[in-house]
Amino acid sequence: MRCDTCGKEVTDVRRVVVDTGYDRALAKPLYNCPECFKKKEETKKLRQKDKTGKAHSDDA
Ligand SMILES: [Zn+2]
Repeated sequence: MRCDTCGKEVTDVRRVVVDTGYDRALAKPLYNCPECFKKKEETKKLRQKDKTGKAHSDDA
């Protein structure tokens, strides 16, 4: 199988659903190698942190 993000041919791919954040119908399933999957997860986490962190940091 091929990773949809880096195009590398890998035996182990994971299905990643790209969540646009506002419309689930636009979410697009992708196949990612473990490396890209990890990167995506980290980006997701950072984004969530940013979202929740902003509301609080404005108070300070
Ligand atoms: Zn990849």
